[in-house]
Amino acid sequence: MPNFSRAKPTRIINDYHLYKGNFDDGIPPIFRGCYYRLLNRLITIEKDFINGVFADMDWQLQFPIDLKPLENHLTGYQFNVIGYCWTPPNGEYTRGKGFWRIDKKNPSIINIYYCQLQFPNQARFTIPHEALHFCQTLQPDFISFFENEVYTSILTPALIIKLLEKITEKTTAMYLLPQEYFKAKWQETRSVEELSDYFQVSRQAIDYRLKECNLIA
Ligand SMILES: [Zn+2]
Repeated sequence: MPNFSRAKPTRIINDYHLYKGNFDDGIPPIFRGCYYRLLNRLITIEKDFINGVFADMDWQLQFPIDLKPLENHLTGYQFNVIGYCWTPPNGEYTRGKGFWRIDKKNPSIINIYYCQLQFPNQARFTIPHEALHFCQTLQPDFISFFENEVYTSILTPALIIKLLEKITEKTTAMYLLPQEYFKAKWQETRSVEELSDYFQVSRQAIDYRLKECNLIA
């Protein structure tokens, strides 16, 4: 077992590499340079945010990770996770896998809705993904970057949404598979299957994260 004791530094040193576009990304070539420049800078902003979340931890991380580290970091907000089938309980319709809303009665409660028809491994991504969208609304550097750099860029509204979803997916992976722990577990097991069981995410997500962390080519 890797040593996950409190003695370990809580700040996760992150050399998460910048995205190396595979050019099968559906982004028209004219927008590609701008898109990846903005994405790379957003990765830096979100890395800092996730490092802050784990730096706040004064207890041992439990895997698979739930929303508690985020809740602890935000202080004053609570997440309430609600599953739905096709029609969400509040009557709103969404095609997506999930969404979030501030509770109407108690604004310190953030309701995270997720579609229960997903596979459990997908839902494990959807729930923090939505929680992280809420966190973005509280991050001054994230907001000002969007206001000053993203909205004023040449990107079309559809590409801005794509960018927001992409960065949120990447942040979710950083959160569910924190680099230091992920690397330690990989060095211990060298097995995608075991990592998938341990972190409770799909093998595909493990594979992708291994590449992002430069652990496999
Ligand atoms: Zn999203």
